[in-house]
Amino acid sequence: MRIIVTGGLGFIGSNFILNQINKTKNIILNIDKITYAGNIDNLSSISNEKNYSFLKSDICSKDLINTTINEFEPDSIVNFAAESHVDRSIENPMEFVETNVLGTVNLLQCSTNYFNKINNSNFKFLHVSTDEVFGSLGKSGLFSEDTSYDPSSPYSASKASSDHFVRAWNRTFGLPTIITNCSNNYGPRQFPEKLIPLMIINCLNEKPLPIYGKGDNIRDWLYVNDHCDAIYETLCNGKIGETYNIGGNNEISNFEIVNTICSIMDELRPRQNAQKYSELITFVEDRPGHDFRYAIDTSKIKNKLGWMPKEDFHSGIRKTIDWYLKNSQWIKNLSSKYNQSRLGLKS
Ligand code: NAD
Repeated sequence: MRIIVTGGLGFIGSNFILNQINKTKNIILNIDKITYAGNIDNLSSISNEKNYSFLKSDICSKDLINTTINEFEPDSIVNFAAESHVDRSIENPMEFVETNVLGTVNLLQCSTNYFNKINNSNFKFLHVSTDEVFGSLGKSGLFSEDTSYDPSSPYSASKASSDHFVRAWNRTFGLPTIITNCSNNYGPRQFPEKLIPLMIINCLNEKPLPIYGKGDNIRDWLYVNDHCDAIYETLCNGKIGETYNIGGNNEISNFEIVNTICSIMDELRPRQNAQKYSELITFVEDRPGHDFRYAIDTSKIKNKLGWMPKEDFHSGIRKTIDWYLKNSQWIKNLSSKYNQSRLGLKS
């Protein structure tokens, strides 16, 4: 397959591309704007591979995206490109509308132009979305593919909007689309403004470990390679026009996550002052509109496509911490490139 991947220098996209190049013969073109979240280091190990190429572009760019799709002639497009951080969407919502909504619509329009021109009935447009479109769960219940959309943040509202446009392009223009809505990912190469890498890197720098509210918000944690396998399975065998929910079957509170990271760090990299990492935990004012709980019913993707997550949280978090411990240069490069106070790397 010839696949265009958008947002492939980010966390999930880069893991997806690495898996594709290392495990398949597929030919990948990565289109990424290289925002603060796009990191060239994520794919430096494959930059000379003959099946991989990179184009720096904004998905909102009409002409460049049209030309590129026509020249590359993809069998599929997988859209990861997005502004992805809820806190930033509260500070600057317009960037989220531009990339997540208008950028997705531009990709859909350019893909439709291309699809109408070629004779490839196998063409697919897979849109990667989030479980945050469904809003918040109480103590019980699970999100299924039929759950109504009820987004709380500008981020989730922009992703919900993009999902609606993807469905509209399928129903109105006949573009062969599939949507996946996944839960919170964790694993190697995640920009450390997100909970898990932030906590690991702050532990390494002996900085406070800030937890929103009381830390009782619950997410269903999905190891990134499991997610990448699910996306590829869906791309190959998913049904056009359908949605698939992807979750890790690992519901854990933020407080439990941070405590688990602290205990593993105590074991693998004990603090020089002999104190426990958990002593660095501090509770900070809660995020406005913070959804209480997300949890995914994975029965559709399990029953229809035979996909199940391989990692449970305890195996996945060890692999993740181990990766950050072994990749101190990746962390160093980030800390010189990005706003350090935001990462909590400097006081
Ligand atoms: P990320 O923020 O790590 O990466 C996003 C990538 O998109 C970056 O490389 C960035 O440079 C690129 N990008 C941003 N705006 C662009 C634009 N206008 N044009 C081209 N490229 C642009 O995000 P991620 O965590 O890898 O998430 C990937 C996708 O998965 C997103 O669509 C996100 O909504 C979705 N998702 C992520 C999670 C998660 O836990 N990380 C959970 C559910 C869904």
